[in-house]
Amino acid sequence: MQVAKSPLAVIDSHVHLDFEEFDAERERLVARLKSNGLKGAVIPGVSASQWPKLLTVAERHAFHYGLGVHPWYCTADWGQDIENLSKLLCERRGDPRLVAIGECGLDALHKASWETQLPCFEAQLQLAQRYDLPVILHSVKAHNEVLALLKRYPLERGGVIHGFYGSMQLAQRYVDAGCYIGIGHLLLEEKAKKLQETLVKLPLEHLVIETDLALVSLVKKSGFADKTGGSSLILHLLIEKIAKLQKKSNVLVSEQVFQNTLQLFDL
Ligand SMILES: [Zn+2]
Repeated sequence: MQVAKSPLAVIDSHVHLDFEEFDAERERLVARLKSNGLKGAVIPGVSASQWPKLLTVAERHAFHYGLGVHPWYCTADWGQDIENLSKLLCERRGDPRLVAIGECGLDALHKASWETQLPCFEAQLQLAQRYDLPVILHSVKAHNEVLALLKRYPLERGGVIHGFYGSMQLAQRYVDAGCYIGIGHLLLEEKAKKLQETLVKLPLEHLVIETDLALVSLVKKSGFADKTGGSSLILHLLIEKIAKLQKKSNVLVSEQVFQNTLQLFDL
């Protein structure tokens, strides 16, 4: 008799399951992910208008969440958003599902809002200090600026640089700043040589994995999996890839990465 192998336990450290895109399929998707080994997920907050939906989805599926203003959603009204964020954090203080500030950071490809991105990010680092929470960081072509601000606002609980793509040297600078390195689907791209080289050297205790899933269409397009099993299968593919690069077993990698995620968010 063949015994069905149970899938490795995984936590998605970054998934935008609150997005409207998932409304029609969320229930089925989440059920499928849970049967595929998904033990938990962290849904980052992106904008004030999206926070209520985020809270509903996190509550409904017993997932964790972050609260923040993503650089793409940073507008001239950022001051008001930060005030609302501060109020909401105060209200939610003590909610065990609230595990981070973010997604926040800097995105140099969104140059139009650079002047507002900077103070908005700074304000969120201050909130992370005040509420003693880790940060979920988004950084695109802005690593020097992000790292300089992390130095200026040191965080007891550190954070995670999500969707990391870079050299070992850059990864080390984030590790030194108290951050975990969030590895997503980019690692699965054949052409991502630099990231693969980084993963050969980067000690396992600094890694977490993520899907950064924001669109059902992306799951379909990725070719990694069918549309309802996609998310957790990507996580399993990431574990296999990291294990191969580090010459370790899938079980060892999955257990360490799982522990790292618990540690980072104090789950
Ligand atoms: Zn994200």
